[in-house]
Amino acid sequence: MRLSIIGTGYVGLVTGACFAKLGHRLICVDIDLEKVQKINNGISPIYEQGLENLLSTYKDKITATTDYQDALEKSDVTFLCVGTPSMKNGSIDISYLKEATKQIATILKNKKTWHLIVVKSTVLPGTTQQIILPLLEQYSGKKGGTDFGLAMNPEFLKEGVAIQDFLQPDRIVIGYYDERSRTTLRELYKNFTCPLVETSLSAAEMIKYASNAFLATKISFINEIGNLCKHLGIDTYEVASGMGLDSRIGRPFLDSGIGWGGSCFPKDVDALIAWSKEIKEPTRIIKSVKEVNTDQPLRLVKILQKHIPRLKGKTIGILGLAFKPDTDDIRDSRAIPIVKELLRKGAHIKAYDPQAIDNFKTLYPTIEYCTKATDVLSSDAILITTKWKEFTTLDFQGKIVIDGRKITQAKNAKIYEGVCW
Ligand code: NAD
Repeated sequence: MRLSIIGTGYVGLVTGACFAKLGHRLICVDIDLEKVQKINNGISPIYEQGLENLLSTYKDKITATTDYQDALEKSDVTFLCVGTPSMKNGSIDISYLKEATKQIATILKNKKTWHLIVVKSTVLPGTTQQIILPLLEQYSGKKGGTDFGLAMNPEFLKEGVAIQDFLQPDRIVIGYYDERSRTTLRELYKNFTCPLVETSLSAAEMIKYASNAFLATKISFINEIGNLCKHLGIDTYEVASGMGLDSRIGRPFLDSGIGWGGSCFPKDVDALIAWSKEIKEPTRIIKSVKEVNTDQPLRLVKILQKHIPRLKGKTIGILGLAFKPDTDDIRDSRAIPIVKELLRKGAHIKAYDPQAIDNFKTLYPTIEYCTKATDVLSSDAILITTKWKEFTTLDFQGKIVIDGRKITQAKNAKIYEGVCW
């Protein structure tokens, strides 16, 4: 099929590269010219395992542009993958999505052939039908469901393993407005072997939010259990293994630590809380899930202070700035509140991450950054904040190590403590 992707961030670019691998022709649109140029040179503007390899291998199938007209003319299906970031009140900002929708609609006005618009960005239930559809109709002067198609196809990929998740998903959810959109997406995904869940537009939107809120709940739950375990010296990971064997529970997402971050869970949980307030349906569980997550990283600093009560003037090493391993994404990384708290207490920070230093510098330009993990070891104590593989084999040379991510061993640490074990 001839596909276009609007917004070449983590979701758009992975979607584009994977569809190219599956044999489709792709044209990607972004407002960021630098990203566009990089993609056209087969270079990935973000770090995601395997992505650059796909972009350069399928360079002849993927082009990028800032020109909507060109992209819409050369495609029959357009995926909307622009960001939907959090606003101050927790609700999501859909202005990028609205802007992109208007641009698409203006071009659809003069397009002679049927075109399918698929919302892939995460949006609150009701958005596709109540906001995107009217905008498309208003700016194109055409009728949704007959002149053009509309669908909502949420993305469940995990950064770090995004390509594998896209190509081998647990399920594909297709919310559809009209029958032709449904059959077009069925055809597009026909070679995938996972279940295809076909729903209303709003149910598709809700499946995405409910899934992320549930996964965040699982992590906050095991962290709360972990905080109890810590008092008795119980290893929460043993507890998680025992619990996880129950098929009703499952082991994934029971890794206790300093909590969840990233571009999705915090934003999606906040959006659900804000939306529930707006529609006056209290979400007690989801609010508590967020509260546990806000407190959890600060526990690492409290444990550190058992060993070094006065942090003023001390040098504290931070291993890991990305919100999780195998990504350079620092959005809502748990390292952020930890660094903030350490600075508030007057500590000097030496930080290292294999991929995320440049991104972290935009938030904290003046802390000391190290070019290798071993440079952090001259600190008075070390906090492990991201589970990068290279930290598991590091020789800690007699240092105090407080671990927020349960690396398998902290070799030769003088003192080793975990946040929940
Ligand atoms: P991102 O911020 O990495 O990328 C968004 C891209 O859209 C940027 O490159 C930006 O320049 C571009 N853009 C903004 N306005 C535009 C416009 N008018 N026209 C063209 N391009 C425009 O975002 P992301 O992480 O890829 O997330 C995109 C959506 O997918 C969000 O709704 C997010 O919640 C959802 N999602 C993200 C993930 C994830 O792991 N990152 C997973 C599932 C779903």
